[in-house]
Amino acid sequence: MIYEKLKLLVLILVELLISLANLPFLILNLNQTMFVSFKFKSRQQHKLDILKIAATLRAIASREPLVQVVICRKTGEGHSSRSSVYKKGKYQIDISLLTSILEINQSDQYADVEALVTFEQLCKATLQYGLLPTVVPEFKSITIGGAIQGIAIESTSWKYGTFDKTVIEATLITGHGTILSSSEAPDLWKAVPGSNGTLALVVAARVRLVQATNWIHLRYVFYSDISKFLNIIDEKMTSKKDTNWIGDNQVIDAIQFCGKDQSINGIVAMYGGCVSHPIPDTKVYKETMFSPFFYQHVKSILTEKKMIIDDDTLILHEEYIPILEYLFRYDRGGFWIIEASATLIPSLLLILDTSFLLALLNHFFKTSTLYKIAMLVSDQKRESIGMLQDVDVPSDRTQEVINWAMSKDLNKLWLCPVRSFGSNESLFSVVQSKTRFVMNIGLYGLAKNLPQSNLDLQRLVAKLQGKPGLYAHIYASRDEFWSWYNYEEYVRLRNKWDGYIFMDLWDKVASIAFSESSTDK
Ligand SMILES: Cc1cc2nc3c(=O)[nH]c(=O)nc-3n(C[C@H](O)[C@H](O)[C@H](O)COP(=O)(O)OP(=O)(O)OC[C@H]3O[C@@H](n4cnc5c(N)ncnc54)[C@H](O)[C@@H]3O)c2cc1C
Repeated sequence: MIYEKLKLLVLILVELLISLANLPFLILNLNQTMFVSFKFKSRQQHKLDILKIAATLRAIASREPLVQVVICRKTGEGHSSRSSVYKKGKYQIDISLLTSILEINQSDQYADVEALVTFEQLCKATLQYGLLPTVVPEFKSITIGGAIQGIAIESTSWKYGTFDKTVIEATLITGHGTILSSSEAPDLWKAVPGSNGTLALVVAARVRLVQATNWIHLRYVFYSDISKFLNIIDEKMTSKKDTNWIGDNQVIDAIQFCGKDQSINGIVAMYGGCVSHPIPDTKVYKETMFSPFFYQHVKSILTEKKMIIDDDTLILHEEYIPILEYLFRYDRGGFWIIEASATLIPSLLLILDTSFLLALLNHFFKTSTLYKIAMLVSDQKRESIGMLQDVDVPSDRTQEVINWAMSKDLNKLWLCPVRSFGSNESLFSVVQSKTRFVMNIGLYGLAKNLPQSNLDLQRLVAKLQGKPGLYAHIYASRDEFWSWYNYEEYVRLRNKWDGYIFMDLWDKVASIAFSESSTDK
């Protein structure tokens, strides 16, 4: 335990030094993505590498007694809000060889990538061909395999659904080391997305790409009331949808401000799409040394404009943003998780409150660094102070979650509409909703009555026919949790495809620290 924390501290220090070394480039306003590197690998080498992983799994499967398998990731990697305590005593399979791109096919618009390639790397690589993945989750270091296993979403999900829906084909390894393509095992593939690595390993994927450019034009629109925003999305969903990033209204997400300051409460929706270049004499947003976190940028747009005009459905602002900065706009500060982290670690508060220190360090607070900082604190302490959950509910139940969040003093919510595929959704899909789309609601920050509020929220979401994101601690008991999903099918697939070698889903996601107290009372 102490060794793990020391390792984290060293990693945090290294990241601090790197971010300080980057300052001159920020001062000179040089493009930060020039430091992002990616590599290619031959298919032959890829085959050898996955054969090695398959052979390891086969050897593990033949051990008596059975050892359960989890994925080995370095300390501080990944985006689960749980620490890696659950991995103790399990066999940690090494997939660290899988960090290369295999092919970017410009004419057929797809990329073949290994599981641990990050979205920042993939997007930088595909943009050279004027292409981007159709759905790009917003943290730079989310990986392709993790995005499938964690049903990633973002602002194009209103058109395409979750990231896994944009995967043309995936390469899987079953518990006994059989290498399969997803089309050879459609029943397994229907359940892998969202299963968090408890049914099979994902080792590579063919990701669908669509046309994009280096700039995005973004409009910020204010609504005082959620129903207006929901109607707009519904309207857009019924009209013809283009399959690219170019043009108006290709992206939609929003921040709901719902704090004590009633004067700015409401929704700032962000609509936009790729353009060839910014129109001269219009506003351009580029990250500089002094750039606030993106949510602060949105809030200042709202506060400035709301002082002048108090109208509803108001276009507050328009601007152009370099596409890579747009895609990963919430990475710095981890949406607004930085605010709750500062309560947890008081020295962070000092930095946030001192403008000079904040200017020096705000680029240090990437999501991947914030995770490492958060993992210095115990799960119990973190969960007792801050809420960190994403939930998906049928769109017509959005208001109920907003009301609940306000009653718990959460002051900002992320709203991201996600197209619903109804009964065609996968086993651990967002929601098999009858509405055209579901609303993903991100609840991050200080909240009342924690950790109990986490369980209350998960129960409310279940009542609304929704689902909680499984990167968070799950507070429900085993029985309650499995009442949300098709358990029989999960067990059938684990038996059929030797998935029982992987750790069971509830065992993995249930809050170890709180599960005793979270069983049905
Ligand atoms: C505050 C917060 C906000 C978030 N917001 C969003 C959001 O807005 N949009 C979004 O898309 N996502 C969001 N996420 C969730 C994130 O996309 C998922 O957690 C995703 O799974 C992370 O990918 P990763 O590469 O970091 O995987 P990890 O965190 O390393 O892994 C996630 C799970 O999948 C398993 N896994 C990973 N790779 C593989 C593989 N190759 N084969 C088999 N199993 C594997 C792991 O064992 C683990 O159980 C958020 C998470 C947090 C904490």
